[in-house]
Amino acid sequence: MTDTVRVRYAPSPTGYPHVGNIRTALFNWLFARHHSGKFIVRIEDTDQARYVPGAVEAILDGLCWLGMDWDEGPERDGVYGPYFQSQRLEKYRAAAEKLIESGHAYRCYCSLERLEDVRAAQTAAKQPTGYDRKCRDRCDISPAGVTPVVRFKVPLTGTTTFYDVIRGEVTFDNSLLDDFVLLKSDGFPTYHLANIVDDHEMKISHVMRAEEWLSSTPKHIQLYKAMGYEPPVYAHLPMILGPDRSKLSKRHGAVSIIEYKDQGYLPETMVNFLSLLGWSLDATTEIMNVKTVIDNFSLERISKTAAIFNIEKLDWM
Ligand code: GLU
Repeated sequence: MTDTVRVRYAPSPTGYPHVGNIRTALFNWLFARHHSGKFIVRIEDTDQARYVPGAVEAILDGLCWLGMDWDEGPERDGVYGPYFQSQRLEKYRAAAEKLIESGHAYRCYCSLERLEDVRAAQTAAKQPTGYDRKCRDRCDISPAGVTPVVRFKVPLTGTTTFYDVIRGEVTFDNSLLDDFVLLKSDGFPTYHLANIVDDHEMKISHVMRAEEWLSSTPKHIQLYKAMGYEPPVYAHLPMILGPDRSKLSKRHGAVSIIEYKDQGYLPETMVNFLSLLGWSLDATTEIMNVKTVIDNFSLERISKTAAIFNIEKLDWM
């Protein structure tokens, strides 16, 4: 596997980096360094409405503090990377056009009001909500003054199956997938389109990301298929919960990684602590330096069950 491993950390700058985001970055970085592969940082900043000023700087600051160096990206002032999706819009637009041409996507002119009416009617009829595919088979004559979105034509029947290194075989029923949007009316891509175009172009071999993205993966597999691309290997990381097994929040300790930096924790200790959130060397070892973690890191030792975040452990480490 040496030198074919190419992984990425792809945060959206919609908030400050928290423990969960940075654990994802760390596992990708450890995997790349273990295999002498490449670690890429890609800022997924295509959702203009959710952009939080200062978030990019905080993400990069957190990575630098913990020693997670990245390997490529466009050159700026003698420094390489990271990639920013907002600087790659032409690639996503071209991919959407190609999908329309090959019959895998279509322009949708439905107004937000119409979509809301459809949803309300579905809810009242106790039906699953989603786009009713009105524009899917219409001939493409654009109504004057309406900027369309581009939607993907998901297969209406059958199932989508993929292999996840941590969870094994995962199957989704296609009838549950919506004709999701690829390109928004502002010309920006959605996460799904940009993510797939970039993972393919950046030759990503393994996608390691939070479990919350598992339900997006069948959409991505279908997109890969439509584009004629080979999907990467997937590994969806277990959730991180508080000691009381509830969703991780402020009452379990600081959530933003920058707070730990500001409180004076040592980066080496933090890397050790974060590496044990869902991965283990063996049943007993808790204290390790970064080199030991890199040398021993493997996907096989990532746990299938939720990781428990215990701030007291960080304090005695
Ligand atoms: N931009 C997504 C996030 O912020 C990335 C998900 C992925 O890694 O595909 O988590």
